[in-house]
Amino acid sequence: MRGAKKALIIGGGVAGPVAAMALRRAGIDSVVYEAYAGGADDAGAFLTFASNGLDALRAIDANHLVLAEGFPTPRMEIQSGTGKHLGDVPNGGTLRDGTVSQTLKRSDLYRTLRDEALRRGARVEYGKRLVDAQTTPDGVMARFEDGTEAEGDLLIGADGIHSRARRIIDPSAPRARYIPVLNIGGYASDVRVPAEPGTFRMVFGKRAFFGYAVHPSGEIWWFANPPRADEPTSAELAAISTEQWRKSLTDLFAEDDTPAVDIIRATPGGLSGWATYDLPSVPRWHRGPMVIIGDAAHATAPSSGQGASMAIEDAVVLARCLRDVPDTPQAFVAYERRRRTRVERIVAHGARTSNSKAAGPVGRVLRDLMMPVILKRVANGGSLAWMHDYHVDWNEEVA
Ligand SMILES: Cc1cc2nc3c(=O)[nH]c(=O)nc-3n(C[C@H](O)[C@H](O)[C@H](O)COP(=O)(O)OP(=O)(O)OC[C@H]3O[C@@H](n4cnc5c(N)ncnc54)[C@H](O)[C@@H]3O)c2cc1C
Repeated sequence: MRGAKKALIIGGGVAGPVAAMALRRAGIDSVVYEAYAGGADDAGAFLTFASNGLDALRAIDANHLVLAEGFPTPRMEIQSGTGKHLGDVPNGGTLRDGTVSQTLKRSDLYRTLRDEALRRGARVEYGKRLVDAQTTPDGVMARFEDGTEAEGDLLIGADGIHSRARRIIDPSAPRARYIPVLNIGGYASDVRVPAEPGTFRMVFGKRAFFGYAVHPSGEIWWFANPPRADEPTSAELAAISTEQWRKSLTDLFAEDDTPAVDIIRATPGGLSGWATYDLPSVPRWHRGPMVIIGDAAHATAPSSGQGASMAIEDAVVLARCLRDVPDTPQAFVAYERRRRTRVERIVAHGARTSNSKAAGPVGRVLRDLMMPVILKRVANGGSLAWMHDYHVDWNEEVA
């Protein structure tokens, strides 16, 4: 019955709070259940938010949140570790009003989306880790690790790449696929680099990939992708000290003609790394009154710069489908029909980009030869227009 539904949203990262806001606009109540007790910790994690994600947020009048927290990063300059300039390309597309990609701290993105969802009347409950869920005659019942339960008409799994909801919907659902590079990043002060604010310098170094941009404050936001063939456990990663990271990173970039070593040395505070994963194709996105969105359904390697944007597009498209299609499972069918081809194409694109970061010596030579040709093709943004020009029209009725 339209307007009378209640959704249980699992996960208060990016997709969860946006789904709560979009559902509210569609006349559907929701509660967000987040596993962790408080906000996300920063640990050097920032992300670039592409123009299509900003456009999807605009559909629910929330794009100003990202614009207020981020700084514009519309360009990328690509170079090799030898210092050879490989090309200049747009980073993410430009909306009709001139809005370009924004870079912001992950913790700021999470906080601002949750605060706005609360301000608009959503409920968020912390310390609620979903362990199980089952369909009931009236909808769905979720069970949390703390022994509590919640009932609703539908359940939306927005619980990220290692989603529990995905496996509740389909116990044989694939696990995330390990991509053989690690991620680490930070913020450096008092070091001079040859880059303008707004441009990411991306360096295909001899032994690892390094990227950095200058924040308008002068701080340098950087990340590195050290190759690592075997998948580390989170305990192994947590055991690496800041000093061990600093030493291994400065060794990795010592031979490159870039300021990477100076930037890493000028980074105060703790360094910690993450493993990289993606999720190319999840056969089942929904079962009965349960559905998955965002990374839970289709995570992409960070190199595509699209994970957060796709999570937001999903949330807004799903809310439209639930608004217009009274039968919940049919609304999920409509949502999947609108989303699957696009997101799987983006995940495949992200995997190709990641592989070029982990190239061996022969691959590196070929890459450095081919890259200028490929970059010329994308330089005017045309070849990635399919990715960045996607538009969600909130008012269009889902047939
Ligand atoms: C190093 C790195 C760099 C990235 N860079 C970019 C970038 O530049 N641009 C970009 O667009 N994307 C980037 N991404 C991807 C982006 O962060 C994700 O695509 C995006 O956060 C997905 O949003 P989500 O809401 O689906 O999942 P998440 O943001 O992961 O949120 C999931 C939430 O669910 C909670 N949760 C998990 N399990 C449970 C449970 N059982 N019960 C309750 N809650 C649970 C988690 O605590 C979390 O808060 C990057 C990712 C990484 C790892």
